[in-house]
Amino acid sequence: MCGISAVTGREDIVHTLFESIKNLEYRGYDSCGFGIVQDGTVEVRKNTGGVDEVNGKEHLTSMLGCTGIAHTRWATHGKVDKINAHPHQSGDGRFSIVHNGIINNYQDLKSELMEQGVTFLSETDTEVAAHLIGLAYSEFGDVRSALLAALKRLEGSYALLMVTPLEPDTIYAVKHGSPLVLGLAAGRNFVASDVNAFLPFTHEAAILEDGEFAVVQPDRWAIYKIDSQAPVARKPFRIEWDPETSRKGGYPHYMLKEIFDQPQTIRNALATPLPEIVALAESIRRAHTTYLMGVGTTHYVAQVAQYYFSQLAGRFLPAVSSDEFNDLAVIGADDLLISISQSGETFDTRRGVKFAQEQGARTASIVNVMGSSLTTMVDQVIMQGSGPEICVVSTKAALAQMIILLRTALELARIEKRLEPGVYNAHLKSLGALPAVVQQALNEQSGFVRNLATRTIHFQNWLFLGRSVYYPIALEAALKMKEVTYLHVEGIPAGFLKHGTLALVDEHMLSMFFVPPTSIGELHALTLTAIEEVKARGGPVAGIIFEGDAKAEHLLDHRIVLPQVDALVAPFMELVVAQLFSYFSALQLGRSIDKPRNLAKSVTVG
Ligand code: GLU
Repeated sequence: MCGISAVTGREDIVHTLFESIKNLEYRGYDSCGFGIVQDGTVEVRKNTGGVDEVNGKEHLTSMLGCTGIAHTRWATHGKVDKINAHPHQSGDGRFSIVHNGIINNYQDLKSELMEQGVTFLSETDTEVAAHLIGLAYSEFGDVRSALLAALKRLEGSYALLMVTPLEPDTIYAVKHGSPLVLGLAAGRNFVASDVNAFLPFTHEAAILEDGEFAVVQPDRWAIYKIDSQAPVARKPFRIEWDPETSRKGGYPHYMLKEIFDQPQTIRNALATPLPEIVALAESIRRAHTTYLMGVGTTHYVAQVAQYYFSQLAGRFLPAVSSDEFNDLAVIGADDLLISISQSGETFDTRRGVKFAQEQGARTASIVNVMGSSLTTMVDQVIMQGSGPEICVVSTKAALAQMIILLRTALELARIEKRLEPGVYNAHLKSLGALPAVVQQALNEQSGFVRNLATRTIHFQNWLFLGRSVYYPIALEAALKMKEVTYLHVEGIPAGFLKHGTLALVDEHMLSMFFVPPTSIGELHALTLTAIEEVKARGGPVAGIIFEGDAKAEHLLDHRIVLPQVDALVAPFMELVVAQLFSYFSALQLGRSIDKPRNLAKSVTVG
């Protein structure tokens, strides 16, 4: 994810462009750049860092011009450095573009263009688009035709903004899968990834839809279909949001926005190239012992993954919390350490990695932030591509990590021939269907989850219980609940309950059960036994269950009923509901949801 913005006006727009891109910084912030049309050319200034930092290095606001494009990057292809920062230009410098998204076939296009003698400066997928436009212009001699010809070659999802000194007051904007919206004002028009970019300047907007492009000038704008070039009549609308709300895409909190981002986050995790997943599976195969390491939420991610590795691939991968790793793990040259971190900066995790490296172990990492410390420390990195997670408590990043590790377990099982091809394919199918079912659950269940939170908010003490993989799901759900509600919530294995914790149960302690689908017969039955144990001691019981589970439905005092899904992905559905439940509970209590007390997003200290 990144932010792109463009402004064209009758007067100098550089400060406006600066403010607009700054308002998109939450979408990505590893580098930033400007392309301003000036004196028959486009001046590009760009560098690494956030918008203010790049302004300090490159003096963006001292540029001058009436038309320009800007980019704040969240790198997907090519490291975070000055050359890979946007804008990118065609070889002759005539076309400058900023891009949000991924051009899937860039490698093929790049090889083809290099054979034709094109020199590439960057490692990005974006640069192919700039060169394609430049070459097409040599052929057609017309800007619009050149752009459209180039678009025909691109596959993937993208939003592109282009400027050229050939038409100095015009912005070309193309939308294919990534967001773009027009902002309209007298004598000055905008195009940006979201309305937040231009809300301080105008509340008039027009949506650009997939398969459309816009031609925008200071006093005019028009939208066309990409395939037929037919003009599109689009009615502008007025945005009533205040800038702060819109930054959250209309959601009142980043936590809620990020919970609702999850269908897309899962898609991104499923788009992680298979060779990277297979390479990690191969490393596990070669290793004597593979440790999974994370801390806080990522420790629970590791524990969830542990069950998948045991159950699918027949390999026990010890999951050790990063802060305890150096005191507990016996690791050496034959072993592998897979560390998991959203920020890639977590102190305890870096310390564990350093320790493992000193013992001669191989290291791998699953990380969300490109260019972060862990990505440079370890031998093997998987970038999870979840986009910025702003809320201090992790939701979408954690789910993406679970999906990537599940895919790794599946590949390991396939390589080691532990899964029939039919079963393997069925599992892939379930994963492929997950974004849509999560979307459906979010759409259909939010109201019920909110009601449940209202009914149960008076409880001060909670147990969250599950068995098997539902145990770490319960642990992670309990942590979420603690973080945002400040209530006492203890996650425990449901089977462990009767061995002591049952003493806590009375009418003031609510037990929340993570109940597996009925298709997993024994596990389901054992979970129901634990519910009975609580009920028999007068404890109220709530649970997340799946449709058709009449027994659980009957036992529970409060319940959320999810649509039936394949058992492989069912735990993720329950996790998403639990995240929502924590959110609505914290909302009831008036907590500081995005920045809970005493916490920080990236814990870089020991
Ligand atoms: N794929 C492009 C890059 O890595 C754009 C990434 C983005 O959307 O931020 O530079």
